[in-house]
Amino acid sequence: MGTAAVGDAVEGISAGRDRVEDSLWSEATLLSEDGTAPVPTRFGTFEGRVFTSLVDGLEHLALVLGDVAGEAVLTRVHSECLTGDVFGSRRCDCGAQLEMALERISEAGRGVVVYLRGHEGRGIGLAQKLHAYRLQDEGLDTIEANLKLGHAADERHYGVAAEVLSRLRVASVELLTNNPAKVSGLAELGVRVVGRLPLWSEPTVENERYLSTKRSRLGHLADDL
Ligand SMILES: [Zn+2]
Repeated sequence: MGTAAVGDAVEGISAGRDRVEDSLWSEATLLSEDGTAPVPTRFGTFEGRVFTSLVDGLEHLALVLGDVAGEAVLTRVHSECLTGDVFGSRRCDCGAQLEMALERISEAGRGVVVYLRGHEGRGIGLAQKLHAYRLQDEGLDTIEANLKLGHAADERHYGVAAEVLSRLRVASVELLTNNPAKVSGLAELGVRVVGRLPLWSEPTVENERYLSTKRSRLGHLADDL
């Protein structure tokens, strides 16, 4: 099998899996809501609501501000990134994006951040993400590194986010993202995306190439929808 054929096969497998996951998450209730309390942050006090996946036991967090049961709710669907979100790693822009999202929602007085666990390294896990970092230090870009480790360029699925938004009675969202795959991934699960607002931070020496790969190879967009 040539490289192109292998690529097609891999794409086919991943598309097939996505369809199964899409229908699973669209047709069943796969989250239990387990706890809620005010969470004061430096961007204001959000209502923290924990949703536990009945599929794998992962606990996801929604930070809710104001009355989100309605249209055009400012929404950030954020993929967990321990190194970037918690430790401020300069390899990526995740921490900066999370802060910008909280700030924008706070300014608007209404919105939600859905914080998705299990999405490290676009879904490959923390250990594999660090392996990918080493490959990037050897010259591969973020996509090539994931592929070399036997993963897809992006393995994330947004079923949890779609169900959380539905449980919060969010009717439609203005999505804070640069990533068109996130917009389409949510739309395919029935989330009505009525707008998109970009979140670009100042590049650092360490993440300049990563950000430019996201633009040139993953189609990340700078402009508003
Ligand atoms: Zn990150």
